[in-house]
Amino acid sequence: MTLDCDSPKEACGIFGVYGVENVAPIIYRGLFSLQHRGQEGAGIVVSDGSEISSVKGQGLVNDVFSRQPIDKLVGNLGIGHVRYSTTGSTRIQNVQPLVAECVDGLWVVAHNGNLVNAAPIRKMYQEAGAIFQTSTDSEVLVHLLADPMYRSRPRRVARALAELEGAFAFLLMTKNCVMAARDKQGFRPLSIGKLGDGYVFASETCALAQTGAEYLRDVCPGELVVADQAGLHSSTFVDEDESRLARCIFEMVYFARPDSQVFGENVHSVRLKYGEQLAVEHPVDADIVISIPDSGNSASLGFSRASGIPLDFGFIRNHYIGRTFIMPEADARSSGVDMKLSVLAEVVNGKRVVVVDDSIVRGTTIRRRVTSLREAGAKEVHVRVSCPPVRNPCFYGVDFPTRDELIAGHEDVETIREFIGADSLGYLSLEGLFLSFEGRHCFCDACFSGEYPTEIACKDGKQALESMSNELNLDI
Ligand code: AMP
Repeated sequence: MTLDCDSPKEACGIFGVYGVENVAPIIYRGLFSLQHRGQEGAGIVVSDGSEISSVKGQGLVNDVFSRQPIDKLVGNLGIGHVRYSTTGSTRIQNVQPLVAECVDGLWVVAHNGNLVNAAPIRKMYQEAGAIFQTSTDSEVLVHLLADPMYRSRPRRVARALAELEGAFAFLLMTKNCVMAARDKQGFRPLSIGKLGDGYVFASETCALAQTGAEYLRDVCPGELVVADQAGLHSSTFVDEDESRLARCIFEMVYFARPDSQVFGENVHSVRLKYGEQLAVEHPVDADIVISIPDSGNSASLGFSRASGIPLDFGFIRNHYIGRTFIMPEADARSSGVDMKLSVLAEVVNGKRVVVVDDSIVRGTTIRRRVTSLREAGAKEVHVRVSCPPVRNPCFYGVDFPTRDELIAGHEDVETIREFIGADSLGYLSLEGLFLSFEGRHCFCDACFSGEYPTEIACKDGKQALESMSNELNLDI
């Protein structure tokens, strides 16, 4: 197995509607509910059956669509995307949905996840003379769809999708239909809802609820679902095979909103159990349990319930600043950390405090939190983390940097404890992480275990496709 990529990646959010009047405001609401999955850019493309119109921009959903109002987006089908730069830089061309004019019509593409074989496919098309407009991995699907090999044959979309390896939840749109597809291993979530006479697709069910849609089911791994005039119909592009499932466990740990159902489970309930199990695995004598809001909320409640130690508010969050980690630039991240949380000294002063967070990646955030708790007078600070040490980079859409940047990639728990300045540090075990599921086999836990469920073809980082495009050799 080839595993020498070092690509930082992160999930995005996708949302689509078919068959409802004036879809743009609905997609806007859907994207707004998925904002936690990406804050770098947002876009909506709609169709009225003959014309396609779009609005896209960099920044938060609210900012993008207040700068460019959506009133001009008229249509009864459409798809939208919120972006974190998974592959490719933060330039505007990379903001999705991508719109491509093929010989037989327009294709609109929105992607969540990361394709592990995008680089060789792109290289093949570029060598044959194709021009790529973006540096995203998602664009290779457009070229596969436009390729006469697929274009001219039945089940063209299914055939194109079957060429892709790695993690994808795709929404595709033509002028008159919306399609949804999930990779054969089911890395990323994608749900289907019913809204009036139409259908809605969303990365997370929280977005269905916020738009008044009723949850029907998830798109199955390897399934292509089409919503068009004939209703909803489904086919598979790869035969179902339970044994290769690799749902991303980090969706449960951190990404997804607690009010979402992901892979059939309510995220809050799962995190609550993580917290309970953490209290069993790493008990401690303390006066209060506090959470790092919001990511540690559910697990800290679980820890408190299982340990009997009362839960209190030790940190107050400023809600007008986004998820700090989702700001991709290192500087933005570190300055954001200070702005986001303040300690309630009245709660922690003189206390033995257990502080619960969802994960430690580089260790910078929790180190600051421990320092601020001590400055506010905490007598002891015990850190509990509701997942195992993150030791390995992710190639499937989660922004885990190189092993060098991951503190647990090169340090043991005791060294990390010293670095963050805690009195004790306890991580949830890998076994504990899967206690509430039927087993580990259905999940990808490569970030913890190092066991990757696919081959990795790309050997470069986030800018991999960027640099391929830049190697211009002019001989005129
Ligand atoms: P740090 O250890 O300073 O790199 O930051 C870890 C914190 O960032 C965790 O407490 C999470 O809340 C959050 N986090 C962890 N993993 C990710 C990720 N892949 N993308 C965005 N935020 C993350």
